[in-house]
Amino acid sequence: MEKKIIFVLVEHHDKKVHPVSWELIGKARELAAKLDNSEVWGIVLGDELENICNEAIKRGADKVIYVKNSRFNRYINYEYQTAIVNVVKKYNPEIFLIGATLEGRELAGMVATKLETGLTADCTGLDIVSDNRTGKKILAMTRPTFGGNLMATITCPQHRPQMATVRPGVMKSLPIDPKRKGEIIVENIELKDLKKLIEFLETIPVKTESNLQYAPVIVSGGKGVGGPDGFKKLKELANLLGGEIGASRAAVKAGWISDEYQVGQTGKTVRPILYIACGISGAIQHIVGIKESEIIVAINKDENAPIFDIADIGIVGDLHKVIPALIDKLKQLLA
Ligand code: FAD
Repeated sequence: MEKKIIFVLVEHHDKKVHPVSWELIGKARELAAKLDNSEVWGIVLGDELENICNEAIKRGADKVIYVKNSRFNRYINYEYQTAIVNVVKKYNPEIFLIGATLEGRELAGMVATKLETGLTADCTGLDIVSDNRTGKKILAMTRPTFGGNLMATITCPQHRPQMATVRPGVMKSLPIDPKRKGEIIVENIELKDLKKLIEFLETIPVKTESNLQYAPVIVSGGKGVGGPDGFKKLKELANLLGGEIGASRAAVKAGWISDEYQVGQTGKTVRPILYIACGISGAIQHIVGIKESEIIVAINKDENAPIFDIADIGIVGDLHKVIPALIDKLKQLLA
């Protein structure tokens, strides 16, 4: 029986891999365990990226397709599309996973269109299920829908590969296993016949202050914080705990904090060790972004606020009193 292949695109910038790619290799291993006779393959495009190929194996890939060409060190959508479509046609993967990053979202759509297959964007859950009609094992792709009030599970039973993009921070990466062995397959894909559509001028990095998705501790503020000044105290607490600040959409919409800090369905999905929700009511669109946190602490003056339904520790009280008290206590402990 031919092996079923799960492809994972390994996204990189300046020779650094986007963590979502390792998260997807971790998830792909889980899926492969449920899909008979299957393997996880990473796809790496670029040059001088042997270290990345080896790391992909140590993080769970059985094989890596290394499309070796220095032109791929820089992402240009139609060049990547050409290369990836070629590789997919050659190896016929069953499933293809891509990070829902800025690039990944664009590329996944372009690749799926060319391959005439289905794509579920922005998934928060993936599983292997049995197709009702054929009994065959297929990919079940779950994502929020109807403004986050419902979760939809989507399948693509008739076309291959079954494609999904997954938000960063949702899945868990596997630790590096230095003893893991695998195979690197080098592919040469010529681009010289490709009509030039984009002239590359320069890269201007986006200035970002927040590192929310991978912060171990997040102190997040909502409408209850009361204004931009309220976030100063939250920042002080976050600094003492070695974490970052986050926010609800209501706080962002009020103009109290920039949208790069927004957590939730239309913001970032986070899974810190500790998430402290201050003055956040606990709307479903916020909860979907924080539910994988290990410990959720909620501070809210309304004892009936829905956030208490999912909190591990609830503090009913005025955050303007609770947070300074927490800061004082922590300072004493750390002194
Ligand atoms: P509120 O709901 O107004 O709650 C404020 C809370 O603060 C209350 O519970 C109150 O009791 C408490 N409070 C007030 N004063 C104090 C005090 N002094 N001390 C302690 N507690 C106090 N929301 C997100 O967060 N992220 C998203 O990504 C997101 N995406 C959305 C997408 C769609 C399509 C839609 C329709 C909505 C989305 N929302 C999102 C909005 C969401 O539905 C809520 O409106 C929002 O999360 C509410 O923010 P909040 O909890 O800060 O404000």
